[in-house]
Amino acid sequence: MNKLLPAAFLALLSSSCSHAATDKNNQQPLPASQAKNVIMIVADGMGPAYTTAYRYFNDNPATKKIEQTVFDRHLMGSSSTYPAPISGYITDSAAAATALAAGVKTYNGAIGVDVNKNKVESVLHRAKKQGKKTGVVVTSQINHATPAAYISHNESRRNYQELANSYIDNGINTDVLLGGGWKYYANDKRNLVNEYKQANVHYVDNYQSLESLPKNKAVLGLFADVGLPWALDDTDKFRLSTMTKAAIKQLENEQGFFMLIEASQVDWAGHGRDIAAAMHEMSDLAKTVEYLEQYVANHPDTLVILTADHSTGGLSIGRKTVKPTQELNSTYFWQPEILRTMGMSPSAFSKLFANNEIVLKVASQHLNFELSKTEFQLLVDAKIAGKNLLKEFLEKPLAEQKKVKYKPQANTPIHIALKKIIDVRTNTGWGTISHSASHTAVDVPVFAFGAEKQRFSGAIDNTDIAKKIFAILGK
Ligand SMILES: [Zn+2]
Repeated sequence: MNKLLPAAFLALLSSSCSHAATDKNNQQPLPASQAKNVIMIVADGMGPAYTTAYRYFNDNPATKKIEQTVFDRHLMGSSSTYPAPISGYITDSAAAATALAAGVKTYNGAIGVDVNKNKVESVLHRAKKQGKKTGVVVTSQINHATPAAYISHNESRRNYQELANSYIDNGINTDVLLGGGWKYYANDKRNLVNEYKQANVHYVDNYQSLESLPKNKAVLGLFADVGLPWALDDTDKFRLSTMTKAAIKQLENEQGFFMLIEASQVDWAGHGRDIAAAMHEMSDLAKTVEYLEQYVANHPDTLVILTADHSTGGLSIGRKTVKPTQELNSTYFWQPEILRTMGMSPSAFSKLFANNEIVLKVASQHLNFELSKTEFQLLVDAKIAGKNLLKEFLEKPLAEQKKVKYKPQANTPIHIALKKIIDVRTNTGWGTISHSASHTAVDVPVFAFGAEKQRFSGAIDNTDIAKKIFAILGK
């Protein structure tokens, strides 16, 4: 902020600019020179392969060209993601979120604290101090690593309940807080929902209620026990977009706002090697960014930045298979067709298939693509394997059963088998030989549009993103 001019004058200047600055030739409002509103989007786990895969997933096969995506339109550069040296080269979401939120490299697991476990100020804290409104919208539980690093401080991301408590015990610093988390907000130990209500915060627990929020009142919205259902399975397949629209309406004010949006579950799909879930999470994110594109066109004093905290799963678009299928002699192919129309997530299907007698035709109907007899047999075999695993477990003495951290689930082998069928069909690869995958240290893309977007061009570091936002917000 320009120190020579009083803040009130600058606020007046920037708010008048947003309406007055219009290019007479095309009537498009010009970007304002200063960003009054800052919207930071973190797509957890979204390395470069995800935005590229989304382009082909989004492609309309009826046209010759491959359609440009909202991501293609706003690419500014890339960001490195490595954590503090003590944690090596590969970051987790906590250290990366602390870097993006506070501009400080820290150890993996750290929430808003540096390597010495000292609290560090986040851009959300700064915005609040500046008199802006603040909002957080995520598809994970609201006390998960990324939102927590913007809102609070803790030496470990695993202290979920402590983090949830801290959001209210340290003073509520968000005007809008939307995501999942009933498990932590209304349990035997403490009913945080009631405490929020007593603090005059409006509480909602379903997406419909977002349409009629009371004006000028802080809002807490929780829509699931932990994370929200996969976009593929949720009642609202574009829930990130729905929550974002409602939050912005609530946050708009003369002083401006800072909002964090997290597409949290791209990462979860990557860990689970689930290309179907990943593409539909990307679809929800794309719809959210498309909405923000329109918002910025009408509110040129708004800046939107999108990046990932790291990449997850070592996703590869195409892979070398041992034996190409007979119909496809080339190993160079990626076929997202079945992903586009899928009606439910592999996870949801596996539960349905484990608990019901389902024939090939019905299974194909649920998935919305034709399974071959061989593929169906793989699912049937997996169902038997799942039943046997559970039976073996239940035959063990109770004392031994209690020692096991995760009780085997009958649907797990079906879930794994279906994801493998989908990987073979689409020719999707993952950087793992296990059934789950981890983070990788590849640089991630940076996207920006609106006021002051040029600050985010080129090859930068994740800490630079916070530093640039601090510079925009001022001291
Ligand atoms: Zn992760």
